[in-house]
Amino acid sequence: MNNSILILIEHLKDAIADISFEMLGIGRKIADSFNGSLHAVVLGKDINKFLPELGIADSIFVADDEKLEMASPETIADIIKSIIEIKGISITILGGTNTAAGVGPILSSKLKLPYLNFCKNIRVEGDNIIVTNQLFGGKILSDVKLDGMKGIISVNPGSFPSDAGKASKVVPVVEIDLSQIKIKNYFKKYIEPEAGDVDITKENVLVSVGRGIENADNLSLAEDLIGVLGGAISASRPVIDQGWLPLSRQVGKSGMTVKPKLYFALGISGAPEHVEGMKDSDCIVAINKDPAAPIFNVAHYGVCGDLLEIVPSLTEKLKAKKG
Ligand SMILES: Cc1cc2nc3c(=O)[nH]c(=O)nc-3n(C[C@H](O)[C@H](O)[C@H](O)COP(=O)(O)OP(=O)(O)OC[C@H]3O[C@@H](n4cnc5c(N)ncnc54)[C@H](O)[C@@H]3O)c2cc1C
Repeated sequence: MNNSILILIEHLKDAIADISFEMLGIGRKIADSFNGSLHAVVLGKDINKFLPELGIADSIFVADDEKLEMASPETIADIIKSIIEIKGISITILGGTNTAAGVGPILSSKLKLPYLNFCKNIRVEGDNIIVTNQLFGGKILSDVKLDGMKGIISVNPGSFPSDAGKASKVVPVVEIDLSQIKIKNYFKKYIEPEAGDVDITKENVLVSVGRGIENADNLSLAEDLIGVLGGAISASRPVIDQGWLPLSRQVGKSGMTVKPKLYFALGISGAPEHVEGMKDSDCIVAINKDPAAPIFNVAHYGVCGDLLEIVPSLTEKLKAKKG
């Protein structure tokens, strides 16, 4: 299997996660440009129902076993390692998610393969694969040439269109032999976040505040804006970590994924972990005093300036307009 690409399929609560289709889409594109092949691996319990959705792959490796229902990164890495070794996989693509976060480094150290994290683009140039990585919260982009076309790539969710990875077709399925895999540890239960006072995933308008709000007293600026627009207040992680708002209001990788009609990002830099949770909002308005803030890359409307001056004036103007 030269020039073959393997994708780790993620699924949660009976559904394939979007990141899986993103990876399948870009994986297919790269594999086709090298006349290579694309393979998916699905692990877990009762997973055969997912297989018809993975028709864009050339084959699917499957291990359907209750011991894998909440497998640890070590176990997942051991299974993927065995596939890479037996089938001669050249490139493995993982999601930059909580599920796969531990898998890449373990695989990399066991197989002595390069591990490229925070990937937001993969392209082919001649005989080489170039991976663009987002460093320092998205402020620096680095292009890395994958030496010898071998390695492990971890993809930031939201980097590729998921529709490109969707195809329903029957493809060959290969059962993974688990007899050599020792399961040393596993997760015991999935803990749902506590339901907060407000479910921010259901709001049409979110006014989200970041570290740029400076202190808890200034949250009133966002509340005043909500008083005119409706909606709810949400935040980036530093605001939650300070204890200024409850965890139920956090947007991002370790918080909620939201898709409101209108999302205000006030003093939020736009780190990948935050953007992951709000990038699909219908309309994003960012106010930030740094013209180079990455949030402006996803915003539909951007205002470069001091939120402490702009927000009160915006609220007053909207109030006046509403009469
Ligand atoms: C595993 C992991 C999970 C994570 N999960 C999440 C998550 O779920 N959600 C999340 O948000 N983060 C998460 N993070 C943290 C993330 O990497 C960033 O650190 C965080 O999003 C930054 O928050 P921020 O934009 O509010 O702060 P900063 O990055 O400090 O940005 C503050 C911004 O405010 C601007 N600013 C300052 N003053 C003003 C002003 N007066 N007017 C206008 N603009 C101003 C600045 O220019 C700057 O761009 C996670 C990190 C890791 C490693």
